[in-house]
Amino acid sequence: MNIVVCIKQVPGTSQMEIDETTGVLKRDGAAAKINPYDLYGLEAALRLRETYGETVTAVTMGPPQAEVMMKEAYMMGVDDAYVFTDRVFAGADVLATSYTLAQGITSVCGDFDIIVCGKQTTDGDTAQVGPAMAEYLHIPCAAWVSEIGEIRGDTIMVGQDFVNVKQRAAMKLPCLITVEKDLYTPRLPSYRLKAASKDRSVHMITFADFKDQVKEHYGLKGSATSVERIFPPETHDGQIYMTGTVPEMAEELADLFSARKYI
Ligand code: FAD
Repeated sequence: MNIVVCIKQVPGTSQMEIDETTGVLKRDGAAAKINPYDLYGLEAALRLRETYGETVTAVTMGPPQAEVMMKEAYMMGVDDAYVFTDRVFAGADVLATSYTLAQGITSVCGDFDIIVCGKQTTDGDTAQVGPAMAEYLHIPCAAWVSEIGEIRGDTIMVGQDFVNVKQRAAMKLPCLITVEKDLYTPRLPSYRLKAASKDRSVHMITFADFKDQVKEHYGLKGSATSVERIFPPETHDGQIYMTGTVPEMAEELADLFSARKYI
C-alpha cells in the first residue's frame, strides 16, 4: 500500500508579521511547527503501513524551511519526504494550495493508494484542502474520519463522526481521507530513526518539476480569493459581569436594556 501523507508547517507563535501589500502572512523565517492535526494523519499513515506494508511518503507545500519539518517526519518513520517550494506557489489560497499539492503528488510521487490529511490546520483552519485535492485528483474522499477499518481488496472501511450523526462508509481506493484528532495517539520521534535518518535528504521540488507548467494555475495568480485586510480583532472593554441568582440577573439586565432604551 502506497500512502501519501500531507503535512503542513504552521506558525509556532501567535506573533506573526503580515505583508501590508499582499495582506498575507510572512512565513519565511518565522518560528514554525508541524500542524498538530497532521500528527494524527502521520500516525494513521504509519499504522496503515504497519498493517498493509509498503511506503509512507510525506509531502508539503511551503517555504524551504519546511525541510526541517520533513526531517522530523523521517524521525517518525516516513520513507520519503517532498517539499513543494517555489516563488510561483507563494500567496496560494485554498484552491491554489490544493491544486499545487495535487499536481505535486501526481508529478513526483508516483502511484498511490491513499492520501491522508489532517482534519484542518491551526492557521488557515478551513478544513477544505483535503476534499479539494480529492476533486482535482478525481478520487473519492471521506472527511472527519474517526475510525479506519479494514481494507479488503480495493475497498477501505471508514467511520466518520459528524457530531450529531456517525457514519460508516466503504470507499474505493485510491482515495483521500482527512482524519480527526484522537483517532490514534501520535508517536514521538524515535531516537533510533533520528540517528538512522540524520543524513537523509528531503526532495526539494520546484515548479520546474511539475507536469502542469502554466504559472497562472498556482500561487496568488491561481487563487480565486484575495485577502483584503488582515488585522487583530478589536478588543472591547466595558464588559459587565453580573452575579446573583437568575431572577436578580434578569432584573439587572432588564434595567440595563431599559436605561439604554433597547426595550
Ligand atoms: P486546511 O484545509 O485546514 O488543512 C487540512 C489538511 O490539508 C491539513 O491538515 C494538511 O493535512 C493538508 N494541508 C493543508 N495545507 C497544506 C500544505 N501547505 N502542505 C501540505 N498539506 C497541507 N498562506 C501562505 O502561506 N501564504 C499566502 O500568501 C497565503 N495567501 C492566502 C490568501 C488567501 C486569500 C487565503 C484564503 C489563504 C491564504 N493563505 C496563504 C493560507 C493558505 O491558503 C492556506 O494556508 C492553505 O490554503 C491551506 O489551507 P488551510 O490552512 O485552511 O488548510
